[in-house]
Amino acid sequence: MKDKHGRSIDYLRISLTDRCNLRCLYCMPEEGVEQLLHDEILRIEEIERIVGVAATMGITRVRLTGGEPLVRKGVVDLVRTIASIPGIERIAMTTNGILLPRMADSLKHAGLARVNISLDTLDHAQYRMITRSGNLDDVLSGIDAALRVGFNPVKINAVTVRSLNQDFLAYAKLSLDRPLHVRFIEYMPVGESSGTDGCGWGEEDVVPSEEVLENINRNAQAEGLGHLLPANGVGKPEGWGPARYFAFKGALGTVGFISPLSRHFCSECNRLRLTADGKLRPCLFSDEEYDLRQALREGSDDALRQVLETALQAKPDEHHDKVGTERGMSQIGG
Ligand code: SAM
Ligand code: SF4
Repeated sequence: MKDKHGRSIDYLRISLTDRCNLRCLYCMPEEGVEQLLHDEILRIEEIERIVGVAATMGITRVRLTGGEPLVRKGVVDLVRTIASIPGIERIAMTTNGILLPRMADSLKHAGLARVNISLDTLDHAQYRMITRSGNLDDVLSGIDAALRVGFNPVKINAVTVRSLNQDFLAYAKLSLDRPLHVRFIEYMPVGESSGTDGCGWGEEDVVPSEEVLENINRNAQAEGLGHLLPANGVGKPEGWGPARYFAFKGALGTVGFISPLSRHFCSECNRLRLTADGKLRPCLFSDEEYDLRQALREGSDDALRQVLETALQAKPDEHHDKVGTERGMSQIGG
């Protein structure tokens, strides 16, 4: 599928739920967001039908996200069904990793190929503070489980937020001894900056990727680790997104940077997003949505195809530094 700006779109990100077992302070308010009603959320069979139609149009890669995708009942069966849809080559998941120790095996058997695990710090107290309830050991066990069952690649994503004062080098060092691809993601202005949905974004909290890279190199050299070298060939993980990768000499993994604010990559955008309540979003930063659920419940596969095509053609050329969106990240599907 080509959009009107000539970009090939072959990647669908699906939010399975707006619910979550954590309350990360940049993503959700402590009390959670107003939850979608049961009937508003796409049923598992409805998601399967959408992927089936999308695959006939050229979608080849699907990522399951949320909210927390692993709290969605039926997620393992959903993975199994999507994996069997002709045309779908890979299924990935973005998860906070808390439930991976008990679910990684069945997800792998069902056909999940790769996982991104979100983790912003390696400090126990800071992890509990950021997630408002989580236990760092659970995520670390989740990472162990992901490697054990053979997800490939396993990426670990940290949002960089200045006021959190994260230890970037400690985090980058996760890539040294195991094939982990750690990535630093610039804090994005998604949700209301008033903080009512938990975003509370402010420009002063954005740490540009270049600054993180310099910080890591300075501290790594002080420790005798050398500095990060561009990883372009063998060591670079297959990516569906716009990360730039580096690696320490001899490391088994890489260190990546995703810079939606300091380095616009909209020209490389390859995706559509589906919210848990069945709305197609052409762009993360735009509030424009197309109602796939209604087409799904009232119409034929052709009607679905038409909404997919309309959303595709509505993809903007870029996000134009827009600040704030009506729905927060946990609702859109980060
Ligand atoms: N619950 C899962 C998880 O945490 O991985 C999946 C959904 S979560 C919304 C997806 C990703 O979005 C997480 O890595 C999270 O850190 C990231 N995220 C949330 N709000 C963000 C923001 N304002 N800027 C950048 N990343 C954000
Ligand atoms: Fe939940 Fe993921 Fe949002 Fe954290 S970032 S509150 S884990 S949806």
